[in-house]
This record gives sequence, structure tokens and C-alpha cells, in this order.
Amino acid sequence: MKQYFHIVTYGCQMNVHESEKIAGLLARLGYESCDKIEEADIVVFNTCCIRENAENHAYGNIGMLKKLKAAKRNMIIAVGGCLPQQIKKAEELHEKFPFVDIIFGTHNLGKLEDYILEKRARKKAVIKIEECDGSVIEGEPKLRTSYPNAWVNIMYGCNNFCSYCIVPYVRGRERSRCCENVIEEVKGLLNEGYKEITLLGQNVNSYLSPTGGMKFNGLLDKISSLDGDFRLRFMTSHPKDFSRELAEVIAAHDKICNCVHLPVQSGSDRILKAMNRKYTSSDYLKKVEILKKYVPDCAITTDIIVGFPGESEEDFRQTVKLVEEVDFASAFTFVYSKREGTKAATMPDAVPEEVSKRRIMELIELVNSRTREHSARFVGKNTVVLCEGYDEKKGLYLGRNEYGRMGYFESKEDVFGKFVDLKINKANGISLYGDIVNVRG
Ligand code: SF4
Repeated sequence: MKQYFHIVTYGCQMNVHESEKIAGLLARLGYESCDKIEEADIVVFNTCCIRENAENHAYGNIGMLKKLKAAKRNMIIAVGGCLPQQIKKAEELHEKFPFVDIIFGTHNLGKLEDYILEKRARKKAVIKIEECDGSVIEGEPKLRTSYPNAWVNIMYGCNNFCSYCIVPYVRGRERSRCCENVIEEVKGLLNEGYKEITLLGQNVNSYLSPTGGMKFNGLLDKISSLDGDFRLRFMTSHPKDFSRELAEVIAAHDKICNCVHLPVQSGSDRILKAMNRKYTSSDYLKKVEILKKYVPDCAITTDIIVGFPGESEEDFRQTVKLVEEVDFASAFTFVYSKREGTKAATMPDAVPEEVSKRRIMELIELVNSRTREHSARFVGKNTVVLCEGYDEKKGLYLGRNEYGRMGYFESKEDVFGKFVDLKINKANGISLYGDIVNVRG
């Protein structure tokens, strides 16, 4: 009899890709994917703890399975990822949700098959959290779900210890994969027909191959020199590691998308210092200047936190000023979320909720107006998108251009997985609408 799995993923792209690895492990055990949670024989929650709301969201969804588990007692429920990796959280999870069968952390995802077999053999819950700085595991099976895009981890963990961030505590220290393994994986994906490769890491530009010492610039250069009609992206970059050499490599290769995510977090030097970001606003602006010099049409995107402990009105004004100056193509804005175990969690002078709310609303308005302006610049011009699906609601195909803008269009033929040249006639927010000029690939 067929057995099915269903994975619920929270958080960033790194987690989405880790869910592809979990899916690969489950497929190796003979499970098949299903869309409906009620039909699953095993449900895996791949959690995130970067922000409190992602954690609460996971708690809510896990709690909702209590009834289903009571009605379907052989169903296995597993909770993994960053949330249980935090100190004492696995025990808390077990206490709160005794019907959860398996709890595992970020460092032992690769052992999930063993835990499932262990759970099948006994009644008790299997709770396994490994406390280590992590390792690099090669050759894990992956069940990729995002064709024509493929995600490739090049490094794991983080050494930066930004004072607000839990990642170094739950993902361990930085460790890079050997460049040969990364390049082989990319070659394999290109042979399988993938058209867009995104290199992933908490801090991709501090990549350093343990064999031969190849740095991130070198890796980008090597991969973008491979044969084939494909695009290359990477995320996320830390501004302190962003160099002129990296800007030069982006400029030298058409295959590397002219789109760089460079999280600034704040425009105030005082707050950047308290955040332990290791750069000032003027350092950041200099990096942006270099990037714009080498890649003039580069879409620069960012992350910004408002309401960090001690953030004054003046600090916030400096953030607004920096956003205006850089002219970001888009930005993810967040209200500071206190994470127990981080340095910032012990800082005094919490910003009142209503102040943070007012600041985030002002920032969102500013960012949205810039986003609209950037989108409007495409109207009347041609842009190439990689078709990644069909929007049933809109009745239109969709695909992203190299700058990260989503383009929607009509097509009589199935253009899924193809590069499509569009003439843009309308922009709406971050979306573009256009007509096909040419189809490639
Ligand atoms: S660079 Fe800072 S924000 Fe990014 S993962 Fe590392 S500690 Fe967290």
C-alpha cells in the first residue's frame, strides 16, 4: 500500500531547500508526496525561529493536528528545524504536544530516516537534538520541487553573531562545501535542464572552499563559465564581505543576475553597532556605490529592522534617509523580534509597540513607493523572464526577470521552463504585465 508524506515549511529559502532534502529522505523510505495533510502517513513540520511570529505560526499548526492524530493513530508527526534546536525548546515542544512522534534539530536532519524507523519500532516519542557546530553532509537525496529553479547550498551556519539573531546558535559555525562538489551539483542540475541556479548560504560571500581555498568570487566565476543557457543567483550577502572583486565578477558574466540582496538592517551607526553588524552606514553606502559603478542597472534589495532596543526617532530618521539614498528596488521590513538567548534580548530600552508600528508603516510606505517606481521603469521596455508557472486566478503565465520582478503574460503555447522575452505594458506594485516578443529554449 502506498504511504504518503506532507511537509509544512516555515521561514526562508534555506528552509524551503531543506524541505527538499527531507522530501528526498522520505522518498528513499518509499513515501510519496501528497498535497492534503489529512491523507499523509507522515507529516513533517520544518520550522523556523528567526522571528517570533514564524514560531507561533508553527505552534498553531502543530496544535491543529491533535484531532487528526487521535483519529489516525498510525500517522507519524515530526517537528524539525530551528525551533526545536533552541535551548530547552525540544522538551517544551514535547510537553506542549505529547502527540508529536519525532523531534529533531538542524544538525541531524540527515538522520530522519533512522528516527522514523525507530519510531515505528516503539511507542515512545523520539527526541533527538544534536549539540554541535554542524557538519557538511554530501550526497543527500533531494526531491526538488521548484523546477526550473534549483537551490544549491554552498555553505552553512554563521560566525557573525548579529546581536538580534538566533541563527548562529541554531545553525552552528560557518562551514563551506568543497568547490568541486558544488560545481558538480550545478553541472548535474544543468544537465537535468534546470535554468536558474541559486547559491544559498547564511552569508554566501564569506564562502571559502575547504579544498584549494576558492573564495565566493572564484566560485561564481567558475559556475557562470559553465556551458548552457541558465541564470545564476545567490543569497544572502553580508555587506562587510561585499567586495569590488565580487562586483567585477557580477559585471563580467551575463549569466549572473543583476540583482543583489544586501541586508542593511538600519541606517543608524549607533544601532548598527548595537546590532554588531560590523559596518557603518557610510561603509554600506560605499559598497552600494561600488556595486552601482560596476553593475549600473543592478537591482539592490535589502532587509530592515525597526524598533531595535534603544532605537530613537533620530536613529529611525537615519534609516529613512539611507533608504531614500540607496533607492532599493525592494525591501523586506520587519519589526524587531526578541529572541531569547541572543544578546539583544538582554538589552534595555525596548521600543514601545505603537512606536515600532508607526515606524514600520512609514517605512513600508516609502519602500512600496520606491518599488512601484522601479517597476514603472520597465513599462514600454522588453525584459526576459524565466517562466516558472501558471497563475490560475489571473489566467496568465508568470516568470521572474533577472532583477527579481515577476512578469505575467498570456501564451497559447506552454512556455513553462522557457526564457520568454516580454514587452511590458503595465506595472502594478512588484508585478509586471506584458506581451510575448520571443520565446527561447
Ligand atoms: S549575518 Fe547576522 S543576521 Fe545573518 S545569519 Fe548571521 S548572525 Fe544572523
